[in-house]
Amino acid sequence: MKMKKTIQEKTNEIYEKLSISREIVEFSDRITDELKERFDNIDKIAEYNQMKVIKAMQDNKVGEMHFEGSTGYGYTDTGRDTLEAVYAGVFNTEDALVRPQIACGTHAITVALFGNLRPGDEMLYISGKPYDTLEEVIGIRKSSGSLAEYGISYGQVDLLDDGSFDYEGIKAKISKKTKLVAIQRSKGYATRPTLSVKEIGEAVKFVKSIRDDIIVMVDNCYGEFVDIIEPSDLGADMIAGSLIKNPGGGLAPIGGYIAGTKKCVENASYRLTTPGLGKEVGASLGVNRSLFQGLFLAPTVTAGALKGAIFAANVYERLGFKVIPDSIEERHDIIQAVEFGSPEGVIEFCRGIQAAAPVDSYVVPEPWAMPGYDSDVIMAAGAFVSGSSIELSADGPIKPPYAVYFQGGLTWYHAKLGIMKSLQRLIDANICKIN
Ligand SMILES: *Cc1c(COP(=O)(O)O)cnc(C)c1O
Repeated sequence: MKMKKTIQEKTNEIYEKLSISREIVEFSDRITDELKERFDNIDKIAEYNQMKVIKAMQDNKVGEMHFEGSTGYGYTDTGRDTLEAVYAGVFNTEDALVRPQIACGTHAITVALFGNLRPGDEMLYISGKPYDTLEEVIGIRKSSGSLAEYGISYGQVDLLDDGSFDYEGIKAKISKKTKLVAIQRSKGYATRPTLSVKEIGEAVKFVKSIRDDIIVMVDNCYGEFVDIIEPSDLGADMIAGSLIKNPGGGLAPIGGYIAGTKKCVENASYRLTTPGLGKEVGASLGVNRSLFQGLFLAPTVTAGALKGAIFAANVYERLGFKVIPDSIEERHDIIQAVEFGSPEGVIEFCRGIQAAAPVDSYVVPEPWAMPGYDSDVIMAAGAFVSGSSIELSADGPIKPPYAVYFQGGLTWYHAKLGIMKSLQRLIDANICKIN
């Protein structure tokens, strides 16, 4: 007992040194205590996923030699090939393409789409409007080199008002031309709920019941390891995502993945490199070790980020703000939105997140005009890997409803500090108070 008290006192002291008031520490501890059961459940998911990753690494006999990088063409890069086999094992697919040459999540999805669609084909998004950056890839927003320019047409079925799939609408829109159906798992920065893997699995089954040769691709960004199953476990032909989100575990310095059927992955590889060369070329340079180690850590890192998101929802809902998802909702991705209703709320929140960072904590973020946005945006990120959104980060457009989007945290404790720090700034600015 005495020992425990000492730790508590020391913890209070260090928070004080980090300029967090006793009031906030106690409020945060109360909320954390109430979340014990949910956090236990997250830990159980992480435990399962940790075993899944270890099993895939053992099955594929990962060895020290796989951490050597290759240069030039990268022929016989056994580290790269083994990493791809491990990803295929983890995601329960025939094959995978996991490369530092994939620049980001948008690029991974682009490679998957361009590799598997041909002129005259149609692709159909059945989860509503896709993530912003994909609009130019598809040609929803006119763009040079889009799928539309290559004669690939696009159709879309919105989700129903309750966030579920519109099965009638999907059936009506599927035609002879439909080659690929796409589903976005995470809500991204839209206001719909995120889809569960189970719901996605049902949609895959439905699409396949109409025509089983339709390729189903899932944009898996931000969803990896949140559940014990992935869309590829329930029949999706292809899943794609970014390594500077969940599966990179914070250690991957770059990269993306596509996991799926042999045919789909092969087609994607011909697009990433060249027809004929496919997966045979592509040097891993020096990143193999980080990609293996990041994947190894990804289940617990994702769990930490998830705890941070749930903690944030509970803190800010308690203080009277609208939070999406709400404090008790089931989680299917790591993104948390909080509506502050005022520019000051958004700004102070982001400054708090920045001030909690291990890197660039002394920087004070300001709202600014950014390409691709129709209002000023404020961003907070103090990351080891630039732009990494599995690391604690937040951003908010300075326009109604004045919401911030918050995600990541390589450890739960850091995510917790970020939220405490944001709350301290909001309290200091008289925007809210603990009752
Ligand atoms: C992040 C994200 C993307 C794009 O990934 P980038 O790495 O930013 O290019 C696509 N879809 C969803 C749902 C995302 O969250």
